[in-house]
Amino acid sequence: MGKADLHTHTNASDGDLSPEELLKKAQSKKLKTLAITDHDTIKGYLAAKGLAADFGIELISGVEITAIWNSKEVHLLAYNFDDDDPEFRNLLLNQRTARKLRMQAIVSMLNSQGLKIEYDEVLAEANMGNVGRPHAASVLIKKGYVSGVAEAFIRYLSSERLRGIQTQYAAIKEVLRVVKEAGGVISLAHPGRLYSDTEITSLINLGLDGLECIHPSHNFTAQRKYTALAKSENLLITGGSDYHGTGKSEYDPYFGIVTLGEQHIEALKRTSENRQRIVNI
Ligand code: AMP
Ligand code: ZN
Ligand code: FE
Ligand code: FE
Repeated sequence: MGKADLHTHTNASDGDLSPEELLKKAQSKKLKTLAITDHDTIKGYLAAKGLAADFGIELISGVEITAIWNSKEVHLLAYNFDDDDPEFRNLLLNQRTARKLRMQAIVSMLNSQGLKIEYDEVLAEANMGNVGRPHAASVLIKKGYVSGVAEAFIRYLSSERLRGIQTQYAAIKEVLRVVKEAGGVISLAHPGRLYSDTEITSLINLGLDGLECIHPSHNFTAQRKYTALAKSENLLITGGSDYHGTGKSEYDPYFGIVTLGEQHIEALKRTSENRQRIVNI
């Protein structure tokens, strides 16, 4: 039975590795199936698409979308969509703009706290990729304001610290609709990190297809709990390492270790293929 990792990031968002480097690493860890799930962009996935077979990897289309639900940011993992779907592409374009506007607001907030950092410096950290808080953390570290990423998040970048910043991310219902119309499936990312059980039930009722039961932030008990919930609610079980690059986050040692069994990939594809058939009728 092969192993799959359905949650990874490249330098198209806040990961360190290029898509090709990630494929190489996946091959070295003997993964059979990989999804590149950058934040609100499929550029890394598109770059890897034509190369995956050379590394013996089956690549599934993926993206981690930040959606708004009850004024909270929710991470949704979308898989196996038509990557050419115009409405889906447009949604991602809007998300990219929303990220830039949000980062401008974050930089202003940091400036008002006396930190001398500029928006362009943060954007430069993201290179051409989608900007996010880890890029702001890198600038804070370089300028000596904090000693590491963890400190940057605790002192300045946590959602509590950023409360009050308006964002223009898409509403969760919109994301669910657009991804499903593009033939994709949607799983709730790392549920154990952020939500109460009641909130998870409400989210499931909105029309999620799956739950990310396997994630480095879940201990064995959490993994079992979410797997049981997914089974009882007839949801897909997804999972992965949330790899961002070696030394980049606390989860990075888990690439190749926190993996998903191949049987779940078949179920995911079947759900998506049935949906594509319905969409095309
Ligand atoms: P953003 O896309 O701007 O919302 O940033 C989210 C990303 O920040 C996550 O995908 C992680 O890579 C990173 N992140 C979130 N919380 C933390 C934390 N407490 N410590 C380190 N990195 C974090
Ligand atoms: Zn990230
Ligand atoms: Fe996430
Ligand atoms: Fe992630």
